[in-house]
Amino acid sequence: MRSGSDYLRSLDDGRQAFVDGERVTDVTQHPAFREAARSIARLYDIAAAPENRERMTFTSPKTGQPVLRAWQIPRSHADLRARRLFSETWAEATFGLMGRSPDHVAGFFSGFAAVPSVFAAGGQKFGDNIVAFYERARDEHLYLSYAIVPPQIDRSKPAHKQSDPTLYAGVVKERDDGIVISGAQQLATAGPLSDYIHLSCIHPLQPGDENYANGLVVPVNAQGLRLYPRRPFALHANAADYPLSSRFDESDCYVVFDNVFVPWEHVYIYRNIEICRDQWWKTPAHLFGNHQAQVRYATKLRFMIGLAKRMNEMTGNEAHPAVQMTMGELAALVSIVESMLLAHETAAPIDADGVLWPSRTVLYAVMAMQSEFNGRMLETIRELAGAAFITLPSSAKDFDSPETAPDIERYMASASSDAKGRVAFMRLMWDFLGSEFGSRHQQYEKFYGGASFVVKQNVYRNYDFKRATALVDQALNLPPLAE
Ligand SMILES: Cc1cc2nc3c(=O)[nH]c(=O)nc-3n(C[C@H](O)[C@H](O)[C@H](O)COP(=O)(O)OP(=O)(O)OC[C@H]3O[C@@H](n4cnc5c(N)ncnc54)[C@H](O)[C@@H]3O)c2cc1C
Repeated sequence: MRSGSDYLRSLDDGRQAFVDGERVTDVTQHPAFREAARSIARLYDIAAAPENRERMTFTSPKTGQPVLRAWQIPRSHADLRARRLFSETWAEATFGLMGRSPDHVAGFFSGFAAVPSVFAAGGQKFGDNIVAFYERARDEHLYLSYAIVPPQIDRSKPAHKQSDPTLYAGVVKERDDGIVISGAQQLATAGPLSDYIHLSCIHPLQPGDENYANGLVVPVNAQGLRLYPRRPFALHANAADYPLSSRFDESDCYVVFDNVFVPWEHVYIYRNIEICRDQWWKTPAHLFGNHQAQVRYATKLRFMIGLAKRMNEMTGNEAHPAVQMTMGELAALVSIVESMLLAHETAAPIDADGVLWPSRTVLYAVMAMQSEFNGRMLETIRELAGAAFITLPSSAKDFDSPETAPDIERYMASASSDAKGRVAFMRLMWDFLGSEFGSRHQQYEKFYGGASFVVKQNVYRNYDFKRATALVDQALNLPPLAE
């Protein structure tokens, strides 16, 4: 098994991430990434712990060694449940705040490898490549991030009609031993923390866009690969005042490919618009990857409602009937997400090759409403909070000063907690809800799985409207009433 320290050691490999105009020489030492890397390292340690072997691993059919369940292709409902328990364990260790933990893209690759014929339609070697890379990533416990959306440079034009055809990441050269990629891709969350970046495109492509219709993996330290993270929240966040920003900032990065060479064995789709589309919809990849996303989200919501409950207790508002009703509504929304996850698993058919496909309709239904529900839940908690997060001292240092500590300790306590406990709790809440980190999370829940207009179209394509309209036909053809 890969340990946390194996993982951390592997990150010092010459990868290029830039912060404040400077190249970061070692992400495990830089304050922008150090604690997030250690949070991921803890996940590897949890998975490698002997007492967690059954819950976190299955046996690699190739090596006979234990490997992470995130790579297990489910062939029964019990297998999918086992994947859930694996991801739940990891999500609980990060309170659902690291969406792109190593189990996310592992789900996508498990789905690709489950239906290699989709890739072999472009040539047998591509079908072989996807299976070979999946097996290697599974057996070596690799961490993949992905960048599958083109940049918002000019969305009114297709990729090949941009002002410069090498703006969007695409093939610029074909060689005997591989291809060369240049251009940018919009986002790879956790790019600096991962081993490989998966580059492909989930946005619809048009004839003429063939150069951008690829599927491939690139090691994060590949020559010419540059990562530009957004403002790192961990940079100025101390653990006392920002307990979450300081530990779980998984870093969203713009990705630039500057003539990056990719050997053929790392390419599984090459200049093929149809296969580039089919990989998402004719394999269970999107379903497995987003199964992890929903496990993570349900965990985060449990954490969120736990925070709200503790806040009401602390402010002494818990007993108000109106507060209880509001908490009941919140609990209803959380329960809907939790139950949809179970429905996603149980309404899951098994295909002719014995692979279980989690329910599309259920998944897209909950994802479609997620951006709406999430905002509503956060707004509800703000409503319950009043000025709770605002009436706090400027930082933990105020507890150390003999001039300020007595006032703070006396007046900032609550009936159920001393001042230190109350302030620590309210800071945790603010970091979850209101800090830059909290605000980024709100954007994440809106867009991590695509804009909601796209997700609603997915529901539209998959919902059983025939069954619904058959009822209408039945109503229109009712037998005449008795005379
Ligand atoms: C924090 C965060 C992390 C992410 N991590 C990753 C990652 O690791 N890897 C990755 O590949 N992606 C990631 N994503 C998702 C991805 O990058 C996009 O944000 C997502 O697919 C939505 O696309 P977009 O941002 O280009 O929005 P757009 O497609 O530009 O849509 C934005 C808005 O414009 C309007 N709009 C645009 N087009 C239409 C239309 N045709 N019809 C109607 N309305 C329209 C809608 O209001 C829509 O909500 C992440 C996103 C966020 C916010």
